[in-house]
Amino acid sequence: MEVMLIMKRIEYMCTHCGKKETRNENTGRPNPGKCPRKSNGGPHVWVKNRVLN
Ligand SMILES: [Zn+2]
Repeated sequence: MEVMLIMKRIEYMCTHCGKKETRNENTGRPNPGKCPRKSNGGPHVWVKNRVLN
């Protein structure tokens, strides 16, 4: 059985606006982008929200 290609998926959430993005574990954090909750157009603040199976 080949199990090497199974990748975990991580759900990230921005602590400022609550936006959620799901990424594969090996692709890292989502692009910073622009957070609509930040008045100066600053980037989202991504934190790991949960791991999806
Ligand atoms: Zn945000």
